[in-house]
Amino acid sequence: MECPRCGGAVTEFTLGERSAVVCEDCGYSGVPADLHAEQLDGEESWSEAIARFYENLE
Ligand SMILES: [Zn+2]
Repeated sequence: MECPRCGGAVTEFTLGERSAVVCEDCGYSGVPADLHAEQLDGEESWSEAIARFYENLE
């Protein structure tokens, strides 16, 4: 999958029952279209989940 923002390669990962893609080059993050409805419970919590993902990389 390519990043829709910069065209680079994105990293796909899973958090519980959710999955998402993150571009390490430009910082883009998103979810596959068919899972987008599950994001209605809050952009903030999702951003925090992604932040934890990055913390776990180190
Ligand atoms: Zn990108």
